[in-house]
Amino acid sequence: MAEKVLLTGASGFIAGHVLKLLVEAGYFVVGTVRSVEKGEFLKKLYPESFDYVIVQDIAAPNAFEEAFKSNPDIKYVQHTASPFSFNEGNKAQDYLEPAIKGTVSVLKTTKEFGSNVKKVVITSSFAAVIHTNPIDDPNYIYTEKDWNNITLEQSSDDSVLINAYLGSKTFAERAAWEFLEKEKPSFTISTVQLPLVWGPPVNDIGLSTLNTSNSVLLNVLKLPKDTTEFNDHSPHWVDVRDVARAHVVAQTSEELDNERVFIYSGVAGTQLVLDVLREVRPDLRDKLPVGKPGSFDPSKFPKVDSSKSQKALGFEVTPLATTLRDVFAWVDAQN
Ligand code: NDP
Repeated sequence: MAEKVLLTGASGFIAGHVLKLLVEAGYFVVGTVRSVEKGEFLKKLYPESFDYVIVQDIAAPNAFEEAFKSNPDIKYVQHTASPFSFNEGNKAQDYLEPAIKGTVSVLKTTKEFGSNVKKVVITSSFAAVIHTNPIDDPNYIYTEKDWNNITLEQSSDDSVLINAYLGSKTFAERAAWEFLEKEKPSFTISTVQLPLVWGPPVNDIGLSTLNTSNSVLLNVLKLPKDTTEFNDHSPHWVDVRDVARAHVVAQTSEELDNERVFIYSGVAGTQLVLDVLREVRPDLRDKLPVGKPGSFDPSKFPKVDSSKSQKALGFEVTPLATTLRDVFAWVDAQN
């Protein structure tokens, strides 16, 4: 019998890749999704290896109970669901509540109903690592020990939604570690820290419904051709396929039990993205600004030392050229 994994937010950009890897590795996946349409899309992709439970809102009381009650044999949990879009009209609580309540809820329900669960992997973020205040020091080296110093008050400001997102990831992850300490469940956890994630989607999205992080990348196509200065803020990035692999490795790695896991590629400001794109996609040159080739300076940004996690994960990350080539091939396929 295939081992069973509960994957929350299964319809998401990152979850799509986690799901693909889990199925390829022989697991049966129960996904939580917000609609029958999203569930059926995934079921058609993996008819033998996927089923779904509707969870409209991960912040609702007992949101995950049905998933566990109908699947008492769940062995691993991958908790990826959390709001990551900056829709007009959103409020700070639209990020904070689902992120924090959803994380605590999945852990509580796992403890109560998931007696067979060995490990819960939680998708956290570099948002929970990189300091919001004071502004980044380029000489600083972030490691698994760092925590964002954002306050709940700053995160609750409706006029700065990026802070709401940063706070949502920081306080959700903190809540997970507090749960572990106080509740001492029989399962272990890993939290996965990722910067901005780029890569070809495999979930049910297109250019008009593109996920937040790929939208940031594809903004290069909208830049005026004569742009020469780029205002990059914290351009740390990683490929979505590496992120998914980190989740799946963490699931069974005892070395990563109760650890924060960094999956990280490097810094890629707009000028570097343009330089690499000109190489891998010469046909796009007419559409892109030239800027000042070779002028991107990574030393302007704080460093990240992910060597401890990378050693435990045991694989090399995807180079920028490959990610850009694959994302833009996906874009071509949409047209
Ligand atoms: P997506 O928006 O593609 O995926 C998020 C998933 O969570 C979707 O399935 C979404 O459902 C679901 N979801 C969001 N809010 C709720 C809610 N209140 N109730 C139920 N389901 C909900 O984003 P990503 O795949 O990029 O993000 C996945 C995880 O990775 C998130 O935890 C995010 O914070 C984290 N992350 C992402 C980074 C990135 O650059 N992409 C960087 C760092 C961390 P639906 O689509 O139906 O709304």
